[in-house]
Amino acid sequence: TMAHSKALLVLENFIAGKFVPCSSYLNSYNPSTGDVYCRVPDSGKEEVEAAVKAAKAAFPIWSSKSPLERSQILNKLADLIEHDLEAFAQAESKDQGKTITFARTVDIPRAVYNFRFFASSILHHTTECTEMATMGCVHYTLRAPVGVAGLISPWNLPLYLLTWKIAPAIACGNTVVAKPSEMTSVTAWMMCKLLEKAGVPHGVVNVVFGTGAKAGEALVCHPDVPLISFTGSTLTAQRIMEKSAPHCKRLSLELGGKNPAIVFDDADLSQCIPTTLRSSFANQGEICLCTSRIFVQRGIYSEFLKRFVAEAKKWKVGNPSDPTVDMGALISKEHLEKVRSYVKKAQAEGARVLCGEGVDSLALPTGNQKGYFMLPTIITEVKDESCCMQEEIFGPVTCVVAFDTEEEVIERANSVKYGLAATVWSSNVGRVHRVAQRLQSGLVWTNCWLVRDLNLPFGGMKASGIGREGAKDSYEFFTEVKTITIKH
Ligand code: NAD
Repeated sequence: TMAHSKALLVLENFIAGKFVPCSSYLNSYNPSTGDVYCRVPDSGKEEVEAAVKAAKAAFPIWSSKSPLERSQILNKLADLIEHDLEAFAQAESKDQGKTITFARTVDIPRAVYNFRFFASSILHHTTECTEMATMGCVHYTLRAPVGVAGLISPWNLPLYLLTWKIAPAIACGNTVVAKPSEMTSVTAWMMCKLLEKAGVPHGVVNVVFGTGAKAGEALVCHPDVPLISFTGSTLTAQRIMEKSAPHCKRLSLELGGKNPAIVFDDADLSQCIPTTLRSSFANQGEICLCTSRIFVQRGIYSEFLKRFVAEAKKWKVGNPSDPTVDMGALISKEHLEKVRSYVKKAQAEGARVLCGEGVDSLALPTGNQKGYFMLPTIITEVKDESCCMQEEIFGPVTCVVAFDTEEEVIERANSVKYGLAATVWSSNVGRVHRVAQRLQSGLVWTNCWLVRDLNLPFGGMKASGIGREGAKDSYEFFTEVKTITIKH
């Protein structure tokens, strides 16, 4: 009905500093109720063309501003988002299904910090200079922004991951066309409303909403977009590599994971158990860095399992806006079904489900009966070759298995196609260094999880990605370097 459609939130693309309507729209669901509550532009070639044109036009002025001028604008934008932190957190929770607590303490503060961090780091880069006295030459490097950057982000940490790309891209002097996930577009749209006030010139940040197949691919194929920074699945990354190959585009790819936790006999379980619960189930297990294979040394295996399952059962699943809730809703009905199907496959293979899906019952508040919820699920007696131990599930499902020796566990931890993040639990200093050195993983956390220093490289090995992001790494990705030789 008209009355109903009027109540829907309707987003518009943001091109050349203006909100512009689109000729067709997609439905966006509230994952905790199952209702359509928002309409998202279903952009395609035409909209992407307009956005790239605006970004190209803005490039000469933006790229010639000093790093300090750009830094001040980024800081202003950070302040404005922070000022509206609660509104952003509410919107992110409603749009994505994550708990309000997670949005308030992780997503939005990090989005703010991304701008502050790159506003600062851009002031501190230096270029190189060498001397070749015998030739009478000095060599030095110059770095310059590349042009229009295409930024494509996923639905799990919407504003957090989008700003992790926008901030370094514009700090370096590029202009951007961003395409957030069609499932979580609201906070990017809210951010667009603050750009003018922050002093971001028109056309520097353009946001085009829509699907990957239409809007995303139009951006990847556009000849005037020389670099693409993508975070999402490995499958989509393969498609992006293929589609961008004819243009030889520069790509940064942050992809999936199948992250191991290795718990040695001498681990401090009072730290390890609560942290491993978070690393398995935080944000409904929908973080690329989440643990999904837990290797526990034989001597403490049964004790670990008993305590881990008991604690998981205490997690409260329900309305994401309830601040006492630990886990909210999964992103979509399709995704929930996919995650559930993995649990069924494991059971069919003879694995045991110790708690959660299919074992315990989930009582939901009346308003959330149609939401996409499931309980934290722990699987054991599962073979390393099983799909639950090999494929990224990206939901609240984690497997626990036993191991005997250090040598054995390193080999088993490395025996997947991914290599993003690992955690190692031990009080033996020598061992944590040895194991960390040998794990095929872009990040190794020992006796902790998700502690990040944005100065240092972030990214994955093997099928988990190509390239790294971080202070220096993002600067290198988003700039073109030139080596100049002067003979005197
Ligand atoms: P996805 O690959 O389906 O989509 C990611 C983005 O790409 C979306 O904006 C989507 O619309 C777009 N897209 C889809 N097809 C496209 C195409 N053909 N051309 C251009 N763009 C296209 O991933 P998702 O389901 O949104 O996110 C979950 C995945 O992201 C998981 O695999 C997760 O591990 C990964 N992830 C990785 C990191 C990391 O930093 N390594 C962080 C978060 C999520």
